[in-house]
Amino acid sequence: MNKTGKTLGYWPEAFLRLFYPPRCLICRAILPATALPGPPCCPRCRAKVPMAGPYCPRCGSFHPGAKDCCPGNSPLRSLFALSFYRGEFRKMLHRLKYRGGRHLARPLGEWLGMALLEVGWTPDLVTYIPLHPRKLTRRGYNQAELVARRVAVLLKVPLVPALKKVKDNPSQTGLSRRERHRNVAGTFASLEVIPPGNSLLLVDDIYTTGATMKEAAAVLSRPGMKIYGAVAAFQSFN
Ligand SMILES: [Zn+2]
Ligand SMILES: [Zn+2]
Repeated sequence: MNKTGKTLGYWPEAFLRLFYPPRCLICRAILPATALPGPPCCPRCRAKVPMAGPYCPRCGSFHPGAKDCCPGNSPLRSLFALSFYRGEFRKMLHRLKYRGGRHLARPLGEWLGMALLEVGWTPDLVTYIPLHPRKLTRRGYNQAELVARRVAVLLKVPLVPALKKVKDNPSQTGLSRRERHRNVAGTFASLEVIPPGNSLLLVDDIYTTGATMKEAAAVLSRPGMKIYGAVAAFQSFN
């Protein structure tokens, strides 16, 4: 975020809050002013959204407290998931992605950013999983980019578009683990904008087998670069 953006952002923000008070991400109930900053949920919905945390893409387990679980050099070192892809949280993500709920991206990104700050994940740069231009035109926005934008603001680091989608692969839904990896192979290209030696946080909405996130990390990976992932929801693949 540049300085101009911050200065201009202040008044519209206060103005918007006056007419559009913050609402619960799940049930849309108006939240008291004292609720923010904090999880953008009413207490009843908050109780229904369990926190997930850091997950190791190598050994496939949650490992609270540690950022680098297993030693090794796989491009995606660790993943942080805010919650799980189920229940009301899943319905909210569905609204965000398929039913024009782009207004949900901002509070969701802020929640993810807050959770990352709490566990001390502070990358040098934030980026996101891109959509193919055709899909972007159809949907009108990339929910991963919108979430990543707020994460970057919260973490006070730049947001950079680091990848582009060069192949419009079919949806991963309904595919096996192996098919998902095959389906996503060769679909990303690096925009080569990340200076060497930087740590990078790759943001997406949902992590299932990790095929997309791992492919993106492999395409971005350069010697000395540390790549971590952050998602709104973790979906167990069973
Ligand atoms: Zn609620
Ligand atoms: Zn591990």
